[in-house]
Amino acid sequence: SSKNKPRKMIPKGLEAAHSMRDKFRNACATPVETLRKISQDMLSQMEAGLQSDGESRLRMLLSFVEHLPCGNETGLFYGLDLGGTNFRVLRVQLGGKEKRILKQESKVDSIPSEIMTSTNEELFDYIARVLADFVATEGVDCNLILGQKRELGFTFSFPVSQESLNSGKLVKWTKGFAIAETIGQDVVKELQAAMERCKLDMHVIAMVNDTTGTLAGGRYWNEDVMAGLILGTGSNACYVEQTSEIPKWPPSLPKPEETVINIEWGHFWSPHIPKTEIDDDLDAESVHPGQQVFEKLFSGMYLGDIVRRMILKLAEQACLLGGVTEIPSNMATPFVLRTRDVSIMHEDESENLENVARVMETIFGLKELPLEVRKVIKDVCEITAARGARLVAAGIVGIVRKIGGRKKKICIAIDGSLYEHYTKFRAKLHEALVELLGQEAAAKVVIELSKDGSGLGAALLAASHSKKDLEDKC
Ligand code: BGC
Ligand code: MG
Repeated sequence: SSKNKPRKMIPKGLEAAHSMRDKFRNACATPVETLRKISQDMLSQMEAGLQSDGESRLRMLLSFVEHLPCGNETGLFYGLDLGGTNFRVLRVQLGGKEKRILKQESKVDSIPSEIMTSTNEELFDYIARVLADFVATEGVDCNLILGQKRELGFTFSFPVSQESLNSGKLVKWTKGFAIAETIGQDVVKELQAAMERCKLDMHVIAMVNDTTGTLAGGRYWNEDVMAGLILGTGSNACYVEQTSEIPKWPPSLPKPEETVINIEWGHFWSPHIPKTEIDDDLDAESVHPGQQVFEKLFSGMYLGDIVRRMILKLAEQACLLGGVTEIPSNMATPFVLRTRDVSIMHEDESENLENVARVMETIFGLKELPLEVRKVIKDVCEITAARGARLVAAGIVGIVRKIGGRKKKICIAIDGSLYEHYTKFRAKLHEALVELLGQEAAAKVVIELSKDGSGLGAALLAASHSKKDLEDKC
């Protein structure tokens, strides 16, 4: 259509924009030697975090998971998954080794944004209410023994300091959540109190991070799964560690051979990480300044906003939109450009970059952007995503090194919309893994998508830790 025909750009503006884009590209560059140093820092900070608390930016939180699910589990279990964006409840009937999952039902809700900054009571009442409504839909096929309590696994996608599998204090909120009174409180107690208020009688067997839920969900099907990774609204990873490698393990507590460690890599930092002024501004204006600085470089909540900030800077300081139109006022509004939009623009392979034009028009009302401008915008998407994907690869390599020779093949179960839907991000991540590890070693690291695996994983962990049938344990 003639409406979408790119117009000629004023050359003066374009030159400045090109040079600013090139500076941005240099500032975000992640050559393989840099990635190597970053992965080394990830590894050494992991080790420091296992020594004792407070020694590292990486909290290396103990999960107290003793039995990862193996397939033998039987019975009816519930899962709750409070993520950064969605809240899921699910019910699963497990039939043991041969039959596995007999039936799975679930319901998902996008968390009302006012709840994220409300009060303890409002948040947990919301969770308990959705759960109670869901339990009420239980069919007769669920075969619950009369008087038996329903058992629940709870995925809570925030850092929690635990001393047992079914208790733990919130360390801090991340992503869009901010409810001051929850910090330091036992999240399981809060949930149980809310369930009582709802007259819902359930037993919380396990509370886990979403990375651990994802790892458990992956392990149920594949015993090579050694790590769990989330690339969604936020980002984080966990892995299976030998307790002999955990000097900070509390001496008073029983010590299984292995457990899961929640790295909390969202807060990772290394002096080798390339960072720009834009990242500093985004951090300073965020809900939790100074926190989760690694996650803020690439996770789904932030990637789109980095790109928006760079486009705005190009428009204000390098005349990117020069002569075309005024700078749209909502270009200064945080989060109007989402990571999903970035992936659409980055993956636009059409000659005239029609999708870039469409996103710019839909979100900012910019009509008929010249092709040269569209190209610069696509470049910004690609620079930002490439840096993020390569940093994630460096982090993964740190974990792979920590697991070391314990396994011939290391499977990593991964979940999150960024990985699932952003094909080019995924491709760049895999490319960087090969660069870092070499073809042969990279082939032994298998990344498996485990869609919505963290809620199911929590239910499976409830099953594998249930006292009901100890003979199911692996
Ligand atoms: C949280 C982690 C979580 C990750 C992915 C981060 O912001 O700190 O606990 O695993 O998001 O949801
Ligand atoms: Mg999630």
